[in-house]
Amino acid sequence: MTAERPTYVTHLECSARGERYPADTLHQLSRAGKPLLVRYDLARLARDWSRDDAEARPADLWRWRELLPVRRTGDIVSLGEIETPLIPIPRAGGARVLVKDEGRLPTGSFKARGLVMAVSMAKALGVTRIAMPTNGNAGAALAAYASRAGIETVILCPEDTPEANVREIALQGGRVWRVNGLIDECGAIVAEGTRQGRWFDLSTLKEPYRIEGKKTMGLELALQLGWRLPDAIFYPTGGGTGLIGMWKAFDELEALGWIGPERPKMFAVQAAGCAPIVKAFDEGADHAERWENAHTIAAGIRVPKALGDFLILDAVRKSGGRAIAVEDEATLQAVSDAAGQDGLLLCPEGGATLAAYRQALAEGWVGAGNECVLFNCATGLKYPMPSVTRALDRHQPIDFDAL
Ligand SMILES: *Cc1c(COP(=O)(O)O)cnc(C)c1O
Repeated sequence: MTAERPTYVTHLECSARGERYPADTLHQLSRAGKPLLVRYDLARLARDWSRDDAEARPADLWRWRELLPVRRTGDIVSLGEIETPLIPIPRAGGARVLVKDEGRLPTGSFKARGLVMAVSMAKALGVTRIAMPTNGNAGAALAAYASRAGIETVILCPEDTPEANVREIALQGGRVWRVNGLIDECGAIVAEGTRQGRWFDLSTLKEPYRIEGKKTMGLELALQLGWRLPDAIFYPTGGGTGLIGMWKAFDELEALGWIGPERPKMFAVQAAGCAPIVKAFDEGADHAERWENAHTIAAGIRVPKALGDFLILDAVRKSGGRAIAVEDEATLQAVSDAAGQDGLLLCPEGGATLAAYRQALAEGWVGAGNECVLFNCATGLKYPMPSVTRALDRHQPIDFDAL
């Protein structure tokens, strides 16, 4: 853990209208019902801090402390948020495909980045009870960090959430309930409890700090690539926190003078069975309508309605990227290829980014020589894998030719 360091937070800002809100008090959404963004005194930070200073620190999430909202070191609730590696997959993808393997973070997914920040801030601001809807991994990360911080949690998930997720939430101290509905319908129950004053609502983008944790993916990428950014990023998009966060990180790095104005093409990857952002992108709309009858094996991106839809669409368009929908079969094929050919076990959502990359390559949206980063957002070990039926009877003669 890092020493006490100055923080540079100046205020919070409505992501839609730009009006200011004070830092250091609890907030949910802005008065307009939109996500709040954390703003920093980047001019002062540029004078006080350098790329070399950041690089000289231990390679974890807290090396970015000056660009994060936690003021007091004692409020940080850490489980060891390491920097995740960039792993080439030369066989399963194109020539220069790198997987940022987020499955190595605490609780096995990149939700740890957002939740370590949100829970640390909730602790700093005196919260004692939190509720959240989840498709699985966010709930697991929340339960772990909140239990560690002594904060009670109520976590609602769709009834078909991956079994490993439901059980890890419970084991890590979360009061988890299966709900006969999708994540936004779980969110409606959480919102009602919030109105009744029962808890603080930690839903995606309904508080300002999960974005700040997720933006560290963008900060890390720039540092790992020698202070430049890749040609394209493929991000599995549910609520879009990570895509919005990385886009914000790039702006902050440019304001510090640490990178230039170039940006990667941002590809928002969704499943064909739940693709509200893709539909809005294709129609040129600013907001996405709710996707009815959402279904996909990639539970983490089964989000029918995203509060930050306009921020996702804006980043994707400004970057020159696209929103891409992939079929579940292509996702499963991609998982199988990456595991069997490159030895890297992806989660289904990570598989979706490889399937989308292949589609983008085939349709010419990226070139074979482009450096592309895919996000594998969770460890593949949490998800069902194809069964194996081969068995040997050691009491019978062994047919070695058949092994
Ligand atoms: C949450 C999650 C996503 C989507 O991330 P967002 O930033 O909310 O869009 C993708 N994959 C997995 C495995 C997840 O847990």
